[in-house]
Amino acid sequence: DIRVRFCPSPTGTPHVGLIRTALFNWAYARHNGGKMVFRIEDTDAARDSEESYGQLLDALRWLRIDWDEGIDVGGPHGPYRQSERTSIYLDLIEKLKASGHLYESYSTAEEIDARNEAAGRPKQLGYDNFDRSLTDDQRQSFRDEGRLPALRLRVPDSDLSFDDLVRGEITFPAGSFVDFVVVRPNGAPLYTFVNPVDDALMGVTHVLRGEDLLSSTPRQIALYSALVEIGVTTFIPRFGHLPYVMGEGNKKLSKRDPEANLFHHRDRGFIPEGLVNYLALLGWSLTHDRDVFSIDEMVAAFDVVNVNPNPARFDLKKAESINGDHIRLLAVDDFARRTLPYLETAGILTLPATDDQLATLAEAAPLVQERMALLGEAPAMLGFLFQTADEVDYQADALATLPENTGVILAAAVGALELIELSEFTHERIKDDLAAALIEGLGLKPRVAYGPLRVALSGRKISPPLFESMQILGRAETVARLARLAA
Ligand code: GLU
Repeated sequence: DIRVRFCPSPTGTPHVGLIRTALFNWAYARHNGGKMVFRIEDTDAARDSEESYGQLLDALRWLRIDWDEGIDVGGPHGPYRQSERTSIYLDLIEKLKASGHLYESYSTAEEIDARNEAAGRPKQLGYDNFDRSLTDDQRQSFRDEGRLPALRLRVPDSDLSFDDLVRGEITFPAGSFVDFVVVRPNGAPLYTFVNPVDDALMGVTHVLRGEDLLSSTPRQIALYSALVEIGVTTFIPRFGHLPYVMGEGNKKLSKRDPEANLFHHRDRGFIPEGLVNYLALLGWSLTHDRDVFSIDEMVAAFDVVNVNPNPARFDLKKAESINGDHIRLLAVDDFARRTLPYLETAGILTLPATDDQLATLAEAAPLVQERMALLGEAPAMLGFLFQTADEVDYQADALATLPENTGVILAAAVGALELIELSEFTHERIKDDLAAALIEGLGLKPRVAYGPLRVALSGRKISPPLFESMQILGRAETVARLARLAA
């Protein structure tokens, strides 16, 4: 059975590349009827935070990526936080020492450099496996000097190849990776130890993770081989390295980049359906000619061997357009409900909304649903409907568009609207009567005639359809707004 894992370190805000990795693991598990394990790699107390941990859970839940085992849900291989697994690591360290896979290493960085220089060995090769052959006496004398040993894993002296699920066969030649430190002199095991150990103990069959971790894979496979030899596991998992996510200027999307933060996109009004669709496209596609699909369609089709190894570009314009498509797919009442938090954040209403506000929103939602790429556009498009005439905030660029005869236009519009019976104040009727008064009556072009009405209503150059907006506002409120701009 397929078992994949998502094992983030809880530092910083959730990076879109990291969440893309979670998504691909999840889709792989769901497609194959396998299991997704969620483990937290919180072994760096200085950088890890509970806030970041909470945000990771939040991000996955928001995108509806769930997991079968791990954090919060438990399971047979817990605990699922590495900070709670110390005794498991200590036990395995002892076993691997006893079996001769781990050995004590006393070399300092300066000593390694000096030996490499003397031997004409390139400095970047690093450690020279010198301590492999220390005698008991040598070790004792280092201890007598007060040195504490790191523990290193003895790696094979042969080439190491593996068949990457995304990239095909990859070979690391013998000597390109050396005996590496798995336990620091202070006794703390490193990522290169705890990560494969946990994968082994948790029965992970497929390791799908970012390309940035490719260089650690031969070392992890070497550790895995040791674990197989001492009977901790029976197999080495398959690896697949997912492509980098590039930002502007074809540089890796860096943590400092606001676009790297998943919540930046949520705050701007991506809906989970839209963002998850776009994250799927960072290295994968459903078909050549279809960019918009649901997460269920992704699961039905996903196979990691179809992931493209080339760097994926995070294209915000494309992401927004896909999000707009998903917004249009929502039922209109669902769409309306989802705009509420954005209206609240913009200070347009407070939640829970009043029945009047909900009614206004229900009327207006169909007018704007087609026009929005981000829910964060809702305040600008809808805000004026929740204001009173004296609260409309005229934007400078909108005022600049007003023609000289604005007063005449507004007066004629008020005259026409006041003649409409309240019971007949519908957008069709409003349109007919305003056209009669302004286009025919004053001989104006529609753009000239209706521009000032738009500014009067919303304070903006652009607003939802004008006559529908007047219908929603009602006759008295519409007339009050036209009168205020006229004054
Ligand atoms: N905790 C590691 C990270 O976040 C996990 C890497 C891996 O997937 O093996 O980089």
